[in-house]
Amino acid sequence: MTDKRIEKVLEILTRTYGNNPWNWHTRQTPFQVLIGTVLSQRTRDEKTDEAAKALFARYSSPEMLAAAPVKEIARLIRSANYYNTKAQRIKEISKIILERHGGDTPDTISDLMGLPGVGRKTASCVLLYGFKKKALPVDTHVHRISNRIGLVTTQTAEQSEGELWKVIPEKYVIFYNELMVKHGQRVCKPISPQCPKCPIVQYCNYGIKREKLD
Ligand code: SF4
Repeated sequence: MTDKRIEKVLEILTRTYGNNPWNWHTRQTPFQVLIGTVLSQRTRDEKTDEAAKALFARYSSPEMLAAAPVKEIARLIRSANYYNTKAQRIKEISKIILERHGGDTPDTISDLMGLPGVGRKTASCVLLYGFKKKALPVDTHVHRISNRIGLVTTQTAEQSEGELWKVIPEKYVIFYNELMVKHGQRVCKPISPQCPKCPIVQYCNYGIKREKLD
């Protein structure tokens, strides 16, 4: 795909969705973004925000969460899926942040990935939303849409991240995840993408092919 076409895709998506994060948990402190992103795993956005708001209203810092009873954390976050496992992880993460990082949320991918339940995508979200650093979190949705559009041709989310770094213009790197997530929720859905309604259909490989077949 040419640079001009990539720029056009990103320009249209930015105009369509804006570039401010929609989710409450992605607009908080780095520690809260970290815990919110753990809560978001396999959980819908509105349920994640509900759990995060209930949790932080009672326990807002690593000190407070490290001392909190797991049962009480679980009760507060019960709107998130797998809340028992997540409650345990949240307490462990808080303890490790206190013991190994002096109470500060780590700001590197490797240190973040050393925390329980934190994979590459969660770590990248913390860098991006918590620390406002350039990062490209790629989950299955971002991977799917990037491939459909033709920005990359890859088999896994990890490969997509590597390839996206090569093609996404620098000024769009910090917005890319948000744009893809919004587009995936509204239009480019996993099973039936709504290509006829899509604002970038004329620049998307999948959309162009589909239009020719119709
Ligand atoms: S044209 Fe279809 S496949 Fe391409 S981005 Fe839009 S909805 Fe997704």
